[in-house]
Amino acid sequence: MTLHIPFDNSYGRLPDRFYARQPAEPVRAPGLIRVNDALALQLGIDPAALASPEGLEVLAGNRVRDGADPLAQAYAGHQFGGWNPQLGDGRAILLGEVVDCNHQRRDIQLKGAGRTPFSRMGDGRAWLGPVIREYLVSEAMHAMGVPTTRALAAVSTGETVLREQGPLPGAVLTRVASSHIRVGTFQYFAARGDAEAVALLADHVRARHYPGADGALELLGEVVAAQARLVADWMALGFIHGVMNTDNCHVGGETIDYGPCAFMDIYKAGKVFSSIDHHGRYAYAAQPGIAAWNLAQFATCLLPLIHADSDRAVALATEAVHRFPDLYEAAFLAKFRGKLGLVTAEEEDWGLVLGLLSAMETGRADFTNTFRALAGGDPAGAFANPAPLGDWLAQYRARLDRQGGADTAMMARCNPAVIPRNHLVEEAIAAAVAGDLDPFSALLAAVTDPYAAPPAGFDLPPQPGQEVLRTFCGT
Ligand code: AMP
Ligand code: MG
Ligand code: MG
Repeated sequence: MTLHIPFDNSYGRLPDRFYARQPAEPVRAPGLIRVNDALALQLGIDPAALASPEGLEVLAGNRVRDGADPLAQAYAGHQFGGWNPQLGDGRAILLGEVVDCNHQRRDIQLKGAGRTPFSRMGDGRAWLGPVIREYLVSEAMHAMGVPTTRALAAVSTGETVLREQGPLPGAVLTRVASSHIRVGTFQYFAARGDAEAVALLADHVRARHYPGADGALELLGEVVAAQARLVADWMALGFIHGVMNTDNCHVGGETIDYGPCAFMDIYKAGKVFSSIDHHGRYAYAAQPGIAAWNLAQFATCLLPLIHADSDRAVALATEAVHRFPDLYEAAFLAKFRGKLGLVTAEEEDWGLVLGLLSAMETGRADFTNTFRALAGGDPAGAFANPAPLGDWLAQYRARLDRQGGADTAMMARCNPAVIPRNHLVEEAIAAAVAGDLDPFSALLAAVTDPYAAPPAGFDLPPQPGQEVLRTFCGT
């Protein structure tokens, strides 16, 4: 069986200063963890060939296929608000691009593929835990309709990586994305005063992500709108990205970088999981504001392209970024109307949604199960203390009466029963480390069919002692 990947590499045709040409570093003994058959087919790749011994060699970075153009992309970024002029793919190698069955160009990237010129002090590797986590969470996000990078495959390396916890099994994730271009990619060139590169990158991004956008200002408008929709999607699922640095802000509007991300169990507006987010910069409720901040950094890079007169450029860019709150609020409200089964729009709906969230916070309600139970009329079972729910329910029922009842079919489509809950992800990782991939497979099956009645246990919040309090930047 021969593996054929129909590569067509546009990023590699950009000037040399956009990347470092760099093959992956071979590993000792590639082993199959998972191949995503459906995604492979979309990409025009035979899934059986991908899972064959030759395929594993490619997925592990041991063998380069014809047509691949392996490279590490250069980027910069604001990390927790602090500027870092030089980041880049330190443990990821872009193999190349393919045009999928929908005529969409997609990157195929190996994450954990060894050292690159951007690795700094890192080893360029990933351990099994973050690979399993990203596979589960990114595929769950896709199943819930959230724009996201995807997981095409995961392989073990037969090697050990050293982390704080000690020696851990190594793995490589094959990530698929509409591109890996970030706000930080623009910042990298803008900070160097390389106006020519910023212009080339802007053209590349327009051609690739927003073919209808005419110039830099329209490009900015599209990215603002895409990020507004994306963050609204996250908020509607209780998803906390955890590390919304500008280098993790995708210009195509996909969720990227599943490091310390997590879904909330009990709702809390200020919820933070990441062990390094000491000040709650990336807390649940902070996410829209942070997205707008990131977009302002993006706009800054584009200023010279927006207008030759710098005052005029600033005015236009500011106006474009200031559209974020309205776009975000409209997307947020649309999402939550769906979750509440509202088909009409009323002025007070915003207050109705905020009222529920506030009751959920005081009543210590499970986010996912509250919305799922709402279709049945009474979510009290999802609350530790249902008392704060009473007044709200009366208001909600009156609201439903005014539209002739809830659209429960819509609610079932808008409210997942299963999300990749932290404790389940951690259990799947622990079992995988011990050599048992069954819990991973079972959880993957459940989270990629999120609206169906779940197999026993997958929709349960963590029991006392199971709750995950902290998450870590997966490396
Ligand atoms: P992240 O926290 O995943 O957004 O990564 C931030 C930066 O650190 C990026 O430039 C990564 O490529 C780099 N990095 C993270 N982990 C490693 C690693 N194990 N080896 C080399 N570079 C890494
Ligand atoms: Mg990153
Ligand atoms: Mg990361």
